[in-house]
Amino acid sequence: MTRFTGKTALVTGGASGIGKAAARQLAEGGANVVIGDIQDAAGADVVKEITDAGGKAHYVHLDVTSEDDWNKAVAETVKTFGGLTTLVNNAGIGDTLPIEETPLASWDKVIAVTQTSAFLGMKAASAELQKSGNGSVVNISSMYGIVGGLGGPSYAAAKGAVRILTKNTALGWAKKGIRANSVHPGYINTPILGDTDRQYLIDTTPMGRLGEPEEVANVIAFLASDESSFMTGSEIVVDGGYTA
Ligand code: NAD
Repeated sequence: MTRFTGKTALVTGGASGIGKAAARQLAEGGANVVIGDIQDAAGADVVKEITDAGGKAHYVHLDVTSEDDWNKAVAETVKTFGGLTTLVNNAGIGDTLPIEETPLASWDKVIAVTQTSAFLGMKAASAELQKSGNGSVVNISSMYGIVGGLGGPSYAAAKGAVRILTKNTALGWAKKGIRANSVHPGYINTPILGDTDRQYLIDTTPMGRLGEPEEVANVIAFLASDESSFMTGSEIVVDGGYTA
C-alpha cells in the first residue's frame, strides 16, 4: 500500500514544468496518472518516463479550453483506469503586457486557458469525482491571484478568479465527497518564465532564489492525498516568502 494506491489523477499541463513534476510524484506514490496537454510529443515522453520507472501513466490530447476535449479526456481516463479520483487543473499561460497595450484577443485567450479551464475541468470531472466517494481537486493559481503582481492583467485576473472559484466549488461540494483547494506558486523555474529577467525574480523573492517545480509538486501531492482529508476551500502559498 503506497500513498496514492487506488487513486487516478488527471493532470493538465502535465507535459512540462510543475504539471510534469506533479505527475511524476503522483505516479511514484502509486497513482494512475493521465497527462492532458496540447504538447503531444512532450506528454508522451513523460508517460514513457513514468512507465519506464514502473509507474502507470497515459496521455490524452486535452485543450483545456474545449468542453468537448474535457468530456473525452474524462471518458478516456475512466476507460483506461476505471475511474477518476483526482483532478489537477494546472495548465496555464501568462501575459506580460500592461492593460493599455493588451489586445482583447490576448485577454480572452489567457482567461480561457488559465481560468475557464478550471471551470470546465471541475464540471467535466464532477460526476466521476463524486462517484469515487473521496475526490480531490487541486487548482493551480499563483501568488498573483492573491496580490496583484507585476504581470499582465489577464493573468492576475484569471488567477484571482481560480482562487475564488475553488472556494465556491469547495463549498458546493463539501457534503458530496469532493474536496477542492488551490495552490499559489511564486516564481518557479519552468519554461513559462520565458525570457523574463530571472535575476530580477530572484532579487524580489525573499528567499533569494527561484522555486523548483518539485517544491510545488510536494504541495499538490499533499492536497491530492488523504493527508489533507479535512481541507477544502483552502489555499496554500509556495512562494519563498513573496506574499508574506
Ligand atoms: P509550463 O509552461 O512549464 O507548463 C504549462 C503547461 O500547460 C505546458 O505543458 C503547456 O503545453 C500546457 N498548456 C498550455 N496551454 C494549454 C491548453 N490550452 N491546454 C492544455 N495544456 C496547455 O509552466 P508551469 O510553470 O509549469 O505552469 C503550470 C501552472 O503553474 C500554470 O497554471 C502557471 O500559471 C502556474 N504558475 C507558474 C508559476 C511559475 O513561476 N512557473 C508561478 C505561478 C503559477
